[in-house]
Amino acid sequence: MAEVLVLGAGMVGVSTALALQARGHDVTIVERGVPGRETSYGNAGLIQTEAVEPYAMPLAPGALLQIAMGRGYDVKWTPQGLMSQLGAVLTYARNSLPAAHRRASVTWGKLIRQSTERHGPLIAAAGADNIIRRNGYIELHRTPAKMDKARQTAERFRSEFGVEARLMDRQELQALEPSIRTRVEGATHWSDSWNCADPGGLVAAYAALFQKRGGRIVNGDAGDLHRKGAAWVADEVSAEHAVVALGPWSPMVTERFGLRVPMVYKRGYHRHYHMEMPPHHPIADFGNSVVLSPMRRGLRIATAAELTPHPRLSPPQLKHGERAARELFDIGAPVEAEPWTGRRPCMPDMLPLVGRVPDQPNLWAHFGHGHQGFTLGPVTAEILADELDGKPGWQELQPARLKRG
Ligand SMILES: Cc1cc2nc3c(=O)[nH]c(=O)nc-3n(C[C@H](O)[C@H](O)[C@H](O)COP(=O)(O)OP(=O)(O)OC[C@H]3O[C@@H](n4cnc5c(N)ncnc54)[C@H](O)[C@@H]3O)c2cc1C
Repeated sequence: MAEVLVLGAGMVGVSTALALQARGHDVTIVERGVPGRETSYGNAGLIQTEAVEPYAMPLAPGALLQIAMGRGYDVKWTPQGLMSQLGAVLTYARNSLPAAHRRASVTWGKLIRQSTERHGPLIAAAGADNIIRRNGYIELHRTPAKMDKARQTAERFRSEFGVEARLMDRQELQALEPSIRTRVEGATHWSDSWNCADPGGLVAAYAALFQKRGGRIVNGDAGDLHRKGAAWVADEVSAEHAVVALGPWSPMVTERFGLRVPMVYKRGYHRHYHMEMPPHHPIADFGNSVVLSPMRRGLRIATAAELTPHPRLSPPQLKHGERAARELFDIGAPVEAEPWTGRRPCMPDMLPLVGRVPDQPNLWAHFGHGHQGFTLGPVTAEILADELDGKPGWQELQPARLKRG
């Protein structure tokens, strides 16, 4: 049994703490705020067994031109936001080319397909069934061409990864989601994914489970992590091992220990809206670059990617998303005065960092889950915990790959 500090109590940190605790380790989480109130709070709530390929940067000439000219709503940027992470963005673009993307997808797909299997026992033990729906989500398609492409994707995902999907025409969609009032061509029902009506609440429930099983959560700043003899110390709490699971804040800490992490920070926004008759499933309207998720607080409209160092007061993607949502549904006023914002911690090669920090005994990295950290936290936590216990880690996820360039 070892003493382990886990830095950060998002989905990734709390899942790590639970996995290590289950192996008999004495685990303390150091979190500066409240568990599950940052990126793991603000997402669309999808536990995505269908997301078998990591999110690639759109590289078709038309899409790139649209992004460059500031049109469209998939990716927005400001010169300052782009320049501050240009190297990482260019590497991300290179890794979005077909051969590299296929390579990353082999590993990514294996991780993603374990996600409901890993969340399931935690949800049950945490008593969080009341915020989980196991009915998948719906992706809308507005044109026959999009519908054809969706059919091919569903077929490919089914044969290569065993993903369950049902293509629906307009009538079938209407029967499943009667509150949709715009005519669309059809939809894909990704039926084996799950979704959560309160993502921050799920992390809080996992954190409470960790405490109930004897784990300790210390409210403190992990930014001062340092070594004292053979121990790692953060905010005066010390242990033999430390795991950096600080989501988008992780590179600031690892850099001090010689691991420079070129992260792409993809900002997203969400806001909740009152709704009398919410849909039964989350609705992905990728044509308008939004996901509309029925949550406890109302209909959550979550946006795509923005490369900006500072949040905007009136984000164009959210404004557009709200317009699109109002065409689809009868929705009411916003619930909050201000939108929420946070940054997806994306690695340029699209794979999270899971394993030893090179040249630093007993320092571990566990972050960089990009668009699917809410889904993947409990999956990669098992991999990290196995490696800390002396079993082999996953070579493709090792932080040492950054040193090799
Ligand atoms: C708009 C949007 C939609 C998304 N939709 C989905 C989705 O549907 N499904 C999905 O799987 N993923 C989704 N994601 C991605 C997902 O939310 C993230 O990948 C995931 O939440 C990252 O979790 P994390 O634990 O690494 O980071 P976080 O949740 O950010 O946790 C990091 C923790 O570290 C703490 N911390 C930071 N600095 C310090 C410090 N100095 N000392 C102590 N503590 C500190 C923070 O307070 C925080 O609690 C979405 C993201 C966004 C932005």
